[in-house]
Amino acid sequence: MGKKRKIMALALTMALLLGGARWREPGAVTADGPADIGAGRPLIALTFDDGPRRSTTTQLLDGLAQRGVTATFFLIGEQVEGNEDIIRRMDAEGHQLGVHTWDHVQLTGLGPRDFYAQVERTRSLLAQTVGRESFALRPPYGMVDNGVKKRSGAPIILWSIDPTDWDDKNTQRVVAEVAAQAGDGDIILLHDIYPTSVEAALQIVDILHARGFLFVTVEELASQRHVALEPGETYCDFHP
Ligand SMILES: [Zn+2]
Repeated sequence: MGKKRKIMALALTMALLLGGARWREPGAVTADGPADIGAGRPLIALTFDDGPRRSTTTQLLDGLAQRGVTATFFLIGEQVEGNEDIIRRMDAEGHQLGVHTWDHVQLTGLGPRDFYAQVERTRSLLAQTVGRESFALRPPYGMVDNGVKKRSGAPIILWSIDPTDWDDKNTQRVVAEVAAQAGDGDIILLHDIYPTSVEAALQIVDILHARGFLFVTVEELASQRHVALEPGETYCDFHP
C-alpha cells in the first residue's frame, strides 16, 4: 500500500469512526432518466447559508410554502439544538439540507480532526434530526482546497449568483441584482438569518415566477441536467 493510499484509508477509517462520510446520489436516475419536472421552463436554485435562526427562517419557510417553492439550506451545526422542529419542517416540506460546518469556520488548512469535528459532527446531528443521510457541503466563504475536497465526503456546492446580502442588508438592491443576473441553471446564495434577505428571497421568487422560472433544490437541478453529483467535486451552477 502506497503512502497516499495509506493516508486515504486512514482518512476513511476516521470518517467512519466519527460518524461516516456518506454520500448517496439521491433520486436514483432510472433507465429513462429523471422525470422532466420543468417541462422546458428555466430552472433555478435558491440556497440559504448560516441558519437556522428561528424568527427569520420560520418566516422564510412560511413564504416559500405559500409559493410552492423548495430551496436548499446549508446549516450551522451549533444552531441545530433548539431548532430541531425547524429542520424537520424543512425536510418534510421538500427542502434540501446540507452542512455549513459546526460554527462557521474556514475549512481550508484544517487537519483531519478539526475538519471532521466541523463537518462530520454537523452531518451526524442532522442525520439524527431528520433520520436520513446525504448532506452536501458548502464551505464557509466558498473556500476549498485539496484537503477539503479529499475529506468532504459529499459534493461541494458553491454558487453562481452572490448579491452579498449580508453586506448592506438592502432588500431592493439584492432583489435587483439577482433579478438582473438570474438565468437557467443558476445557484443563488442568500442568508436566512437576516429579515432583509428573507424579504428579498420572496420578492425574487415572485419576480422570477412571473418570468417562468421553476425553483428547485440543488439535487433536483443537477438531476435535471443529468449531472451525477460526486463527493469531493465542486459545483457552481448547472447551466444548460
Ligand atoms: Zn456562511
